[in-house]
Amino acid sequence: MKIRVGIAGYGNLGRGVESALRSCEDMELIGIFSRRDPETIAPRTGVPVYSMEKAGDMQDQIDVMILCGGSRSDLPEQTPMLARQFNVVDSFDTHARIPEHFSRVDAASREGKKLSVISAGWDPGLFSLNRLLGQAILPDGADYTFWGKGVSQGHSDAIRRIPGVKDARQYTIPVEEALESVRRGETPELTARQKHTRECFVVTAEDADQKAIEEAIKTMPNYFAEYDTTVHFISEEELHREHDGIPHGGVVLRTGRTGFHRENSHVVEYRLKLDSNPEFTSSVLVACARAAYRLYREGQTGCKTVLDIPPAYLHPETAEELRKKLL
Ligand code: NDP
Repeated sequence: MKIRVGIAGYGNLGRGVESALRSCEDMELIGIFSRRDPETIAPRTGVPVYSMEKAGDMQDQIDVMILCGGSRSDLPEQTPMLARQFNVVDSFDTHARIPEHFSRVDAASREGKKLSVISAGWDPGLFSLNRLLGQAILPDGADYTFWGKGVSQGHSDAIRRIPGVKDARQYTIPVEEALESVRRGETPELTARQKHTRECFVVTAEDADQKAIEEAIKTMPNYFAEYDTTVHFISEEELHREHDGIPHGGVVLRTGRTGFHRENSHVVEYRLKLDSNPEFTSSVLVACARAAYRLYREGQTGCKTVLDIPPAYLHPETAEELRKKLL
């Protein structure tokens, strides 16, 4: 029998999960749940859309609910709420608040005797897993994470809030020199500025003071002031033609030493280069939904993260098949 999946929230990730499920023969999409009027949503696959309030009535029709809301205000509320009724998976990515989110979701899942996986995606998610492997295997070493080249939604939003700005796209770009130094096995101490640069493409209103806007961007604390930032003013047409995609990616590196005299050095690199951040993230969510269902079937309850999932549970094939093919 196929694993029956629901999607809660239909934005970029929701659409990504819908399309990722088409490549999974062991899973089927039962329906999409949204806070908006279901009549106004037309999923590409023609699957039914229900009001979020109706989700509770469909507990016996859904094995795992994949939550696709935003981390800032949707998931802190939706994940604990739905975790009482369903096995759930979310992509919560506010790193500093993960322990708090975990506690709330864990309590809800235990209360409902369900299984949840939070913070699935690539960072947090696959990058976290690779940091764990690096540290476990090379305890005498250092971690490095470089993001990009990719669009940062948060930084693009911050530019859009400046008066006179109509639209903007911000790319985070790793500093090649720093990346190469780590790849050579060196262990440099790097500041934020030495690791990443920021490139902004901005559309302004016709009468806007572009000099003042550039200054406001470059001096914005926490977002740009700590980085070397380049600002390009472009037309709306160019923004849509050249910058409508949502690419991202990055590299997690662990450099470490072994040997009685620390004479041998090792570099471990895990790299992602993604044409579509949300579609890739959604594919991770779907694999984690499979694992969540398997853990639940074993009788486990409560909250997990990618660090707690046996890797084979992510894969559709049996452990026996995987031993033959992958070991
Ligand atoms: P979106 O803004 O596209 O969607 C978020 C929610 O907004 C949807 O669930 C939907 O809820 C609502 N929504 C979507 N479109 C509309 C619309 N046109 N009008 C009104 N409401 C709408 O966010 P993303 O899908 O791009 O990202 C979701 C989260 O994923 C991000 O906040 C980020 O934190 C996380 N993420 C995590 C990653 C990781 O590696 N862990 C990587 C990438 C993203 P509803 O249908 O109920 O209205």
